[in-house]
Parts: sequence; structure tokens; C-alpha cells
Amino acid sequence: MPTLLGIPLDVNSSYLRGPAGAPEKIREALRSDASNQWSELGIDVGAAGAFVDAGDLQLSNLRKQSDLDFAEIKGAVGALLEKGASPVSLGGDHSVTYPILKAFGPRYPELTIVHFDAHPDLYDEFEGSRVSHACPFARIMEERLAKGLVQIGIRTLNRHQREQAEKFGVEIVQMSALPAYDRLKFRGPIYISFDMDVLDPAFAPGISHHEPGGMTVREAIAHLHAIEGTIVGADIVEYNPERDIAGMTATVAAKILKEILGKMIATAKAAEESSI
Ligand code: MN
Ligand code: MN
Repeated sequence: MPTLLGIPLDVNSSYLRGPAGAPEKIREALRSDASNQWSELGIDVGAAGAFVDAGDLQLSNLRKQSDLDFAEIKGAVGALLEKGASPVSLGGDHSVTYPILKAFGPRYPELTIVHFDAHPDLYDEFEGSRVSHACPFARIMEERLAKGLVQIGIRTLNRHQREQAEKFGVEIVQMSALPAYDRLKFRGPIYISFDMDVLDPAFAPGISHHEPGGMTVREAIAHLHAIEGTIVGADIVEYNPERDIAGMTATVAAKILKEILGKMIATAKAAEESSI
């Protein structure tokens, strides 16, 4: 069952703090009376038992580059996986995906990550940090925590990160090459990592790194819906409430969450029906 977990951590942001306040705002937007809780795939995400909310992680140590924080995140996600849950994390900056994958990796050796982002986040180190939000996918790939990584919507590729992508066998679909629905068909388990800055800042201004020329909300939803395979976990990261305008980015994050939850529930339902 999809299980929400808030991870209020933004100490590994390189530019601005703020995403620690995201989980609460996204939940609020999801529950808002301004919309109903039906995903576009015809799933009532608000129905009793559709998903579980495990609340926010209480992080005890917020020092930069702290191993302890990461142990806490890895431990919490691992505990959910042990219970058979499918964790859907609300970040937090993108550094949280590394410890999340530390929990997923050993349990899902065939895992493919579908990563929506303006940035590849493949730096070996960034401004002296190896756990910066600019580095998680370098750590994930060098520790072989996923079998494959497909990045969608990238529009900031530099030489270093291109070399990193080649080294790790990362498949990059740049923003200029979209749509890329046919690149989203998989057999094994899938983890979705959704960085809100994949969207154009016109649609999602509440992020730390505005990178023009991004996806519309519609393009993002179309790519999410096009995914084939079993989604076993997801995260939505980098929403920065301090940069938001009238809560519009929170509403977009909640919409993306609703569509990911709907997709997970629909896939589980279809699998159940086909096994009867
Ligand atoms: Mn990112
Ligand atoms: Mn990004």
C-alpha cells in the first residue's frame, strides 16, 4: 500500500533553504476543499484505505553531511518496506533520495529509477559536499542501489555530469527531446523521483533553482501516466514554500502526488485482477 512519509530536511541544499517546510504544505494542498481527491486515472485517492500517512520523520540531527540523518531516513524507509508498504516520500531537498535508495536497493535488485528533474544531480561532489542535493544520483549509481536510471526533462547538462552519466550508464532524455513516452516502459520494479524543478518555473515558482524551458504540468502528468511497470516507491522533492506564490506550487505538488498515488493504486488493482 502507498505510504506517505514526510522528510523535512533541507540542510544539503546548495543555494536556498526552505524545502523542509514542504511536507506539511503538500498535505494541506492535497486535502484542500478546492479540489476533489480523484486522480485523472479514475482512482479516488481520498477513499478510506487508498493510502496510509506515516507522518513526518522527526530528524534529530540537522548538521550538514550528517550520517545520522541519513541513517534515520534509511531506517524509516526500510521499516516501511519491511511491512510491505510502498513509501512515497515528500521532501525535503533532493539529497534525501540517496538514503531512501539505500533502503530500496538491497530489497529491489532489479529497480529502475525514473527521475524527473531539470538537473542530473550527478556531481561527484558539489561545493565540498558529497551528499549535496546536486549529488544523490552519483552516490546511488556508484553504490549500485539501482539497476537503471532514466532521467527526464534535463536541461542543465555540463561536461562533468555528462561524463558521470556515461560512467554510470545513465539514460538521459533531455527536455529538448520530449515527449519520451516510449522510454518509460519497464518490466521490473520502478521508483519515481520527482524534482519539482523539472516543471517550468511559470507553473511551479516555489522551487530554489528556477530553470526556464521546463515541462508544463500536463506534460509531466502525461509522462507519469505513460509509465509501464510496477511503481514500488516515489518521492517528490525540492518544493520550497518560501519561494511560492499563493501556494500554487503546493497545489501542483499535490496534483503530481495524486497522480502518482493513483497510478500506484491502479497498477496494483490491475495486477490483482489479472491474477484472479
Ligand atoms: Mn534534483
Ligand atoms: Mn533540480
